[in-house]
Amino acid sequence: MSGAVFPLLGLSRHRMGTDGVGITTLAAAAGCPLGCKWCINRDLLSKAKPEDVTPEEFLERVRIDDLYFRATGGGITFGGGEPLLQADFIKEFKEICPEEWKITVETSLFVPRNYLAQVIDAVDLFVVDCKDMNEDIYRRYTGEDIFVMEENLQFLLQRKDAESILVRVPLIPDYNTVEDQNKSAEKLREMGVERLDLFEYRVKK
Ligand code: SF4
Repeated sequence: MSGAVFPLLGLSRHRMGTDGVGITTLAAAAGCPLGCKWCINRDLLSKAKPEDVTPEEFLERVRIDDLYFRATGGGITFGGGEPLLQADFIKEFKEICPEEWKITVETSLFVPRNYLAQVIDAVDLFVVDCKDMNEDIYRRYTGEDIFVMEENLQFLLQRKDAESILVRVPLIPDYNTVEDQNKSAEKLREMGVERLDLFEYRVKK
């Protein structure tokens, strides 16, 4: 055991059609290295107190829905914040959870490469929120450089089949347009992404 713990902000059970296949339980992690302007989690991330749980403790919490997961092909979705910062935990959890459970992560891919490499075999579905594929828009919206995400996505596409990568491309109020969104989708297709979800951020100004 590595002593990995997950900074758990909350659990949401019995999710269907929102993240991953089948019925899922979403586990939200505290902490995110990006500074997205319309981050709906910002207040939660800064104010809520996470509880550190070990893989074994976490398994005990979520095991209650084992039958649902098995019957529907569902499992656990790690969201955030940025769940890939907890790569060591996710890897350990995958080793002890029932093998039928599917593991999904919802990620910005804005993490050091070694975090991604650590979980690449443990994760069944990567749901990537790419923000925008234009470097200027990305920087204006997140405050960071696009290349970390872009290169991680390439790394992922070279190692996972296209079915296990879903890239979400948001229309971001005040930051991009439908045309930008379509340009991002085109660029992603050229990179080899086959599963795309174009959607609109709903923000409270
Ligand atoms: S990646 Fe998600 S959690 Fe992180 S700042 Fe952006 S919107 Fe918030």
